[in-house]
Amino acid sequence: MTESPYPMIPIKEALSLIERHVQRLPAISLPFEQTLGLVLAEDIVAVEPMPPFPASAVDGYAVVTEDGSGWHEIVGDQMAGYIADLEVTSGTAVRVTTGAPIPLGADAMIMIEETAEQDGRVNIKTDPIEAGAYIRPIGLDIEQGQIVLYTGTQLGPAELGLLATVGCTEVKVYRRPVVAIMSTGDEIVEPHETPQRGQIRDSNRFTLMNLVKQTGATVLDMGIIRDKQYQLEQTIEAGISQADLLLTSGGVSMGQLDLVKPYFAQRGTIHFGRVNTKPGKPVTFATVDGVACFGMPGFPVSALVSFEIFVYPALRAMMGHTDCHHPRQKAMLQHTFRHALHRTEFHRVTLYRNQQGQLTATSTGFQGSGRLLSMVGANGFVILPHGQADYEAGAIVEAVLLETV
Ligand code: AMP
Ligand code: MG
Repeated sequence: MTESPYPMIPIKEALSLIERHVQRLPAISLPFEQTLGLVLAEDIVAVEPMPPFPASAVDGYAVVTEDGSGWHEIVGDQMAGYIADLEVTSGTAVRVTTGAPIPLGADAMIMIEETAEQDGRVNIKTDPIEAGAYIRPIGLDIEQGQIVLYTGTQLGPAELGLLATVGCTEVKVYRRPVVAIMSTGDEIVEPHETPQRGQIRDSNRFTLMNLVKQTGATVLDMGIIRDKQYQLEQTIEAGISQADLLLTSGGVSMGQLDLVKPYFAQRGTIHFGRVNTKPGKPVTFATVDGVACFGMPGFPVSALVSFEIFVYPALRAMMGHTDCHHPRQKAMLQHTFRHALHRTEFHRVTLYRNQQGQLTATSTGFQGSGRLLSMVGANGFVILPHGQADYEAGAIVEAVLLETV
């Protein structure tokens, strides 16, 4: 029997090796519009309060509370965007629009819906009038000097809006990793090509490039590489010199043209070359010149699952996240899951929360490593640990959630 020179290690051990050899990338300053999905590397302080002046929350009339209801003389208009230099005194009112500054002397706003205007006068029907009504005081939303976003926060649409509000247009974030991606194999052709006998179209590069983008990293597409030592080495070198992380697919098994592992071993250190996982057993992790290199198996589902389990947390750690893995929750199996005793399996499933709030899992069908269709419609995996054969309906197992369920 020809044995792989690499020991088969448990998943946990593989993950801790990755954690040990992958570092957070340095923080850089970026225009805030370019930071969607990135992690803040500084606290953001509001230099000014919000609102910066007492502002009306409604369209209506600014009045003096003590006047109470009844007829008031209108002394002018205060629209949003400037200061009209008007003063409200007893018996008078100023027309004010939403977002406009409250004129001097006024201490309440009356909604237009509770008034009637005639001949330059307005009849106020509100009774009693509450002091401060419909006035947004200075600092209601944000106090001056307040920390509005903390280091470690992931920037989403709301956070970018907040940065705009406080005028923080340059922001310190952990930078996006650049990921070089290549497919290897003499049989692999581009998707627009018609495969000749013995050829198949490349799917892995497209799956992996989009997984990388979805994670928030930048893709460097290195194309399809033939199983030729020279071309493979040239492309890996080009990737390593330009990227923070290198992803190859194919060429990590036991075939005579599986050249990826030997080259990683020659140029750097292989931390693992086999993991007790199905699919994805030959997944390989190495560092070369400080660059993390992942050799993904060629089978399309193996490449995808290996990314989610091993590469996703590595990229998240590089991006400054502290919660790096996909969330896990207990799920109940909806039917019997056939399972090989000695392998820990990531079985593709549709996760669904039933009326009792219990997460349930249904298989996406035939789990062949080449069958990408087993991933279409899947929103997670259930982990079927080794040491047990089939798992019966009703069994509670751990599920990896790829989406919120
Ligand atoms: P390998 O790991 O190179 O031995 O490939 C394992 C299997 O995955 C073989 O059947 C390959 O044809 C297939 N494969 C390898 N690379 C790709 C790819 N980029 N897209 C689709 N299938 C692939
Ligand atoms: Mg191959």
